[in-house]
Amino acid sequence: MTLNTFLKLDPAYRDYVWGGEKLRPGFNPTAEAWVVWENDPILTGPLKGLTLGQAAAQYGESLLGARPVSRTGTRFPLLVKLLDCAQWLSLQVHPDDKLALELEGPNQFGKTEAWHILDSEPDAKLIAGLKPNTSADTVAEAIRNQTVIEHVQYAAVGQGDTIFMPAGTLHALGPGLLVYEVQQTSDWTYRVYDWGRPQTETRRLHIEKSIRATRPDFTAPIVPMPACGDGACHMLAQCDYFTLDMLCAASRAIELDTRGESFHAITLIEGRAALVAGDERVELEKFQTAVVPASLGAYRFEPQMSCRALKSSV
Ligand SMILES: [Zn+2]
Repeated sequence: MTLNTFLKLDPAYRDYVWGGEKLRPGFNPTAEAWVVWENDPILTGPLKGLTLGQAAAQYGESLLGARPVSRTGTRFPLLVKLLDCAQWLSLQVHPDDKLALELEGPNQFGKTEAWHILDSEPDAKLIAGLKPNTSADTVAEAIRNQTVIEHVQYAAVGQGDTIFMPAGTLHALGPGLLVYEVQQTSDWTYRVYDWGRPQTETRRLHIEKSIRATRPDFTAPIVPMPACGDGACHMLAQCDYFTLDMLCAASRAIELDTRGESFHAITLIEGRAALVAGDERVELEKFQTAVVPASLGAYRFEPQMSCRALKSSV
């Protein structure tokens, strides 16, 4: 079956203690917009009213593509969030697929993720991994007695940087960062340290699981923004779980093709653009997202002004 329609999504929003004012002016603070999520409703076309997850379960490979279906079945495999960080987020770590299976049970997946910095204040930084030569014993003890923050590696980052974060890397986003985050669909985040904030039912530390999941030698490479051409597609990160590309266009359209292999999730991060395939057309404004079903095939990204978009696929 061919699904030749674009699926524009209605994002869900999350308000946490560390949120800011950039994602949804008037609703402050807003910490996260879940722009590609299995529970996001579809706003356009014949699948309007279904959630992305329901559509994936119903249309399987037509929507998702051959590659994700062969790996993770018909659950929508990626989650994309925009995060507006006004304060430090908790220091956390995710299990890999093997450990998620061991600690959390069957059909549970780990989480590898990548961040693209959309906007940053001067001196913004994040935590990515531990200082070189920190031993597993040192980390375990420091996580137990809540002094692990003395061993972490800070990195200065700015707009346009992409950070690839393999499962097992200790990480935290810092204040003054607006971030696009793509990750495996997974429920497992282990909170290592929370800056002394009170622990509540929904904000707990996960000491022993964190120690199991942390890989002391893992760091996260930072890739600076490529020189943006007009009508160009630049690869920012690639791993077994996802590929993240940036589309840059001012006056020239970009020809793209899903080839039946994987859906494309397109989130506009600057300007205004349209996705076009034959008579099908969807307009995207800043921070809006559409999923292109894998069976749609060839389509065009048409800029209506100078614009940039991020494309996640499997
Ligand atoms: Zn994370």
